[in-house]
Amino acid sequence: MTREQLRDCLQFYRDLGFHTIYKTDMAKSIGRSAESVPVAEVETEAAPATSSSPVASAPIIVPTVFAPETGDSLFKTAELPGLAPENDTLDAIRLDIGDCKRCRLCENRMSIVFGSGNEGAKLVFVGEGPGADEDEQGVPFVGRAGQLLTQMIDNTAAKEGIPIGRKDVYICNVVKCRPPENRTPLPDEMATCGQFLYRQLTTIKPKAICALGGTAMKALLNNKEGITKVRGQWRKWRDIPVMITYHPSYLLRQYNQQARREAWEDLKTLFHYVYD
Ligand code: URA
Repeated sequence: MTREQLRDCLQFYRDLGFHTIYKTDMAKSIGRSAESVPVAEVETEAAPATSSSPVASAPIIVPTVFAPETGDSLFKTAELPGLAPENDTLDAIRLDIGDCKRCRLCENRMSIVFGSGNEGAKLVFVGEGPGADEDEQGVPFVGRAGQLLTQMIDNTAAKEGIPIGRKDVYICNVVKCRPPENRTPLPDEMATCGQFLYRQLTTIKPKAICALGGTAMKALLNNKEGITKVRGQWRKWRDIPVMITYHPSYLLRQYNQQARREAWEDLKTLFHYVYD
């Protein structure tokens, strides 16, 4: 791990409210006590205000060595606490985001587009990032792609006899600030903002999640497969089933009807799973 990566990792945990970590040589740790290092000792900027919680003060174990025999990272064997503080709320998450300057996407944004809809929703849709309309209004999926998503939700539910509409689900994005020229968010932007998406999902605890397009799929599933291959399939984020489907912007660009038909099928399957 480079110094930069270590600093990002520590900043990430400090943003979550952890202020003490233990440097442990995992290979030799049996019978040895860990060395405590306050996060503040590492060169990071001042931590933003975070919500207080019992979990937030818990120490974390960060292994600093690799297994010499195998070369394997011991990171995968380390027990880290859940990412969300106990009793987290959407308001607390929004408060922790604050006037975020954690990545370059803050430079040109008008709004932080946090999410909208029913905070107790059984179903959460995750898109990529705000576009121009969303940036202006501060609400996700209100532009052309958003209107298509709204139609897809409302019409699929009506056709299937499921009494819900857009207001009954929750909608958010992987990154909360508009990428310049609507480019795809970069991996470090997704990683930085991903902590807040995970907390939103952990707090809402929906029965299912819908990943809209490849960026949402990658953020949730760390999956490098092509969207056309995996759309319509169920996967899991933590214990929550995830339905993968096309992003509405992609459907707007398609001249053939095939992708649209497939996306409608995906929503039908998803809605019956969640609401039957
Ligand atoms: N595209 C997205 O991924 N999210 C939005 O909020 C709008 C368009």
